[in-house]
Amino acid sequence: MRFIFLGAPGAGKGTYAGPLSREWKIPTISTGDILRENVKQNTELGRQAKTYMERGALVPDEVVTGMMAERLSEPDAVRGFILDGYPRTIQQAEALDKILAEQNHGLNAVVNIEVSREVIIQRLTGRRACPQCHANYNVNTSLRPRVENVCDRCGAGLITRSDDNEETITQRLAVYAEQTAPLIDFYRQDGLLRSITAIGEVPEILNAIRAAVKGN
Ligand code: AMP
Repeated sequence: MRFIFLGAPGAGKGTYAGPLSREWKIPTISTGDILRENVKQNTELGRQAKTYMERGALVPDEVVTGMMAERLSEPDAVRGFILDGYPRTIQQAEALDKILAEQNHGLNAVVNIEVSREVIIQRLTGRRACPQCHANYNVNTSLRPRVENVCDRCGAGLITRSDDNEETITQRLAVYAEQTAPLIDFYRQDGLLRSITAIGEVPEILNAIRAAVKGN
C-alpha cells in the first residue's frame, strides 16, 4: 500500500494519516516532521532547511528529494507508506516516480483532502503538536487534548509550531496554490486521484478515506 495524502497546510493530512497508518501497519512519512527534527538536532540538513521553513517557503527540491530517497529505502517503507507533505512540486512528484520505479513499485492512490480556506485558517491557528510522538491537536475543535497542553498519547508538553503564525500561514497557503496544487491534475491524469471533502468529525473522514482507497 503506497499512498500520498495531498492537501493544503491544515487540511488534516497528518491527523488522518496517523490512525490509518496504525490500522494499515505502514509508516506515515512526513517531510515536515523529518525536517523539524533535523532543525531541532541542528544537523547539516536542518541548517539548510531552517530559513525556508521559517519563511513558509519550500525547501529546495533536491534537498527534500535526497532526504526522501534515503527514507524510502528503509525496510519499513519498502513495504508501504503514507506520504504526508511530499511531493509538494511537480519536480518532486517526478523524482518520487523514479525512486519507486527503481524499487519496482508504484503508487496505489493519491488522496486529495479538500477543505475551505476558512476552516484551514481556523485549524492552523489552533493547532498544537506533540514534539515527541508527533500527534496533532487543535484547541479550536473537538481535537483538543484532554489535559490542556499535554499529549494524550505520550504525556509530552505540546507546542505551537513556529510557522503556525498568521503571516507565515498566508505565505504557506500561497505557496501551496502556486506550487503544490498543480499536483492535483498531475495525479488525475495518472488515474490515481481520489478527492474527499474533509467536513465533519474525524471518524467520518477516516471512513471516507477508507472508502476512497478501497481495492487500491
Ligand atoms: P509541513 O509540516 O508539511 O507543513 O511542512 C512544514 C515546512 O517544511 C514547509 O512549510 C516547508 O518549508 C518544509 N517542507 C515540508 N515538506 C516539504 C517538501 N516536500 N518540499 C519542500 N519543503 C517542504
